[in-house]
Amino acid sequence: MNDWRLQGQEKFLMGATLAFRKYEPYRSGWDHDHCEFCGIKFSKLAGDKNEGYVTHDMYRWICKDCFEDFRNMFHWVNNSDMET
Ligand SMILES: [Zn+2]
Repeated sequence: MNDWRLQGQEKFLMGATLAFRKYEPYRSGWDHDHCEFCGIKFSKLAGDKNEGYVTHDMYRWICKDCFEDFRNMFHWVNNSDMET
């Protein structure tokens, strides 16, 4: 598969467990993140993505479109029912 969004993310996202969440900054003082694949912006503001798939540590965000496109390639586990 040759996709412009693929830039070596398998190093840190292969087999990751992801959960669908409303966007929350990784640490106070941050106000946005970008999708690890397409770069679309996540924030709490209207006009940005306000929810998406995130790693367990809340550090890496992936938009719904990229999740659907790459979930099989990356063997992601969708753990959205997990309690936080
Ligand atoms: Zn994306």
